[in-house]
Amino acid sequence: MYEKINIAEVSPRDGFQIIKQDIPTADKIHYLNQLADCGFAEIEVSSFVHPTAVPQLKDAQDVFREIKRNKNIVYRALIPNLRGLNRAIDVGVDKVKLMLSATDSHSLHNANAKTFDAMRDFEAIFEKALENNIKVGGSIAVSFGCAYEGPVPIERHLKICEEYNRIGINDISLADTTGMGNPYLVKEVISKLKEEFPHFKFSLHLHNTRGMAFANAVAGYEVGIRDFDSSIGGIGGCPYLPLAAGNISTEDLVHGFEEMGISTGVDLDKVIRIARQNEMDYPSYVNSFIMKAGPNKDLSIAPGKQIKKGDL
Ligand code: ZN
Repeated sequence: MYEKINIAEVSPRDGFQIIKQDIPTADKIHYLNQLADCGFAEIEVSSFVHPTAVPQLKDAQDVFREIKRNKNIVYRALIPNLRGLNRAIDVGVDKVKLMLSATDSHSLHNANAKTFDAMRDFEAIFEKALENNIKVGGSIAVSFGCAYEGPVPIERHLKICEEYNRIGINDISLADTTGMGNPYLVKEVISKLKEEFPHFKFSLHLHNTRGMAFANAVAGYEVGIRDFDSSIGGIGGCPYLPLAAGNISTEDLVHGFEEMGISTGVDLDKVIRIARQNEMDYPSYVNSFIMKAGPNKDLSIAPGKQIKKGDL
């Protein structure tokens, strides 16, 4: 038996933040309530960034207040600073994930500060979050390549992790924000980080910009990663990287791992139903193989009876 993986669904944050049409708060709440019984370990509900920076998520607090929570799921939010943490505390967020970029150039675009300047408040955030029983995770965006600076030297990841370690944060999400990663690079970076920081829990947040995300996920699994982010329908992007494609789709990730005999705990049929809904609501944003070809198991259904696009 292979060890199972845990999936964090990020479409309500990574997906909704780049959808241009206005999504009513009530629709977001309905969407999140549907996600509650799919089997996700975590759900990234929203982010507490400045509303002018990401106007699509300005209702983050209302959404958090109104959703029905499943107690088996960790409901998390992305935050850039102490102000974000205070908003998260107000609405009882389970976990905050700190925004951080591996390179100064991406960090300047994303957080208006260089990487280590952006980390300056992390210690205070960590302490205040713990006082309020909120878990804290760190992140390293553009871990496998930066659109402005190109390849990211491993010394950079090591230095950032040293600072996380000093503060006491050891749950770190490595993000391939630009989709520039490849399986060998993923293995190399993770192996080195795990060697230096064996007590850390690393997870992967993969974008499928160049079709490498699933291969990168398998590479990560092979070097011990058991926690992955994904987005139903593959919706997502980066407001500061106009060409960044969506996350690996949850249906592709779940289908691929389950086919290999690795349990994800996620109900694929439910995920496909929600992906189909996304396809209708946000047609130009959905991009996944399973939504095009269907899962393998459908091939045993008589032709003509196979589920088609648009069926609910
Ligand atoms: Zn992302």
